[in-house]
Amino acid sequence: MGLDLAYFQSVFEGLELGPHGAAALISSNGVVLTRVPGGLGFIGRDVSEAPPVRRFLSGETESFFALSSLDGESRVYSFRRVAGTPFIVVIGLGSQDIYATWKQRASKVGLLMLACCLGTVALSAALSVELARRKRAESELRVLAGTDVLTGLHNRRALTAILAEEWRLAQRYGSALSLLFVDIDFFKSYNDTYGHQAGDDALVAIGRCISKLVQGQFDAAGRYGGEEFLVVLPNTPSAGAEQMAETIRSTISALSIAHKHSSFGHITASIGVTSLAPKHESKLAAAIRAADDALYRAKAAGRNTVAVFPALR
Ligand code: GH3
Ligand code: MG
Ligand code: MG
Repeated sequence: MGLDLAYFQSVFEGLELGPHGAAALISSNGVVLTRVPGGLGFIGRDVSEAPPVRRFLSGETESFFALSSLDGESRVYSFRRVAGTPFIVVIGLGSQDIYATWKQRASKVGLLMLACCLGTVALSAALSVELARRKRAESELRVLAGTDVLTGLHNRRALTAILAEEWRLAQRYGSALSLLFVDIDFFKSYNDTYGHQAGDDALVAIGRCISKLVQGQFDAAGRYGGEEFLVVLPNTPSAGAEQMAETIRSTISALSIAHKHSSFGHITASIGVTSLAPKHESKLAAAIRAADDALYRAKAAGRNTVAVFPALR
């Protein structure tokens, strides 16, 4: 049988095989008759042992990925016998060409996703910075809302919250809770005599003095109102509370802030103490009343003194 190889060569050259594609005509015993690319240079080459050819000849499949034994290129090969002839046509499309569009699209999608991820990360970072800033601002506000402007101690709002919490804990654990009401003596006449600013300065000095003395981890001191301070001593029975009250009283007296209209000649304070182990049914308001009562007794006893009520000993 005569074969016009140049004809096949021109047919193959007319195929759009892409930059990495190849086409060949081989005989059924695996000898190359013509091939593109490579022209007639491959003619006569025995490729019967080449893996793609062997796979086809073994009847395994007609179409598969394989590496070319002639140029090492990865291709999808399709083999077909030319009906009625001992020839086989092989068309191989380069894997690179097949995946080129997909790769281009995939890299575009990948870049887009990367941009989205980076955007999300940047947004999350900005959000967490903003959240932290807000948290800081909120906690600063909370501190400010519970701080007495003049003395820097807890204000009444903070003291009320502390009292409620300590009361609850004392009730739960059956522990002693002591309250001290510290009230400056003859303070109205101090203001009238030395002026409001001097009165403020005295309040600041006394506030500082109290906060220096009340140092326990769970103890708290604050300005309850006007010239009245409250000290909360959790887990402190009467004896300890009375001792603390006496220390506060004597330290305020030792400040020796001149007050010519006081019977003591300087600023002093009276302190009412109450200590109790609240029962389940006990009321905090009653405890505050008791401390206030104790203070009234200290005033009635001549001021610059400590009174304990109820007088548990
Ligand atoms: P007592 O010995 O019975 O406690 O007499 P007192 O004069 O201290 O008590 P009173 O309740 O009659 O007067 C309290 C005074 O405290 C009235 C007010 O002029 C003064 N005061 C209250 N808050 C402030 C404050 O923030 N600054 C100043 N400078 N004075 C204050
Ligand atoms: Mg007073
Ligand atoms: Mg008062």
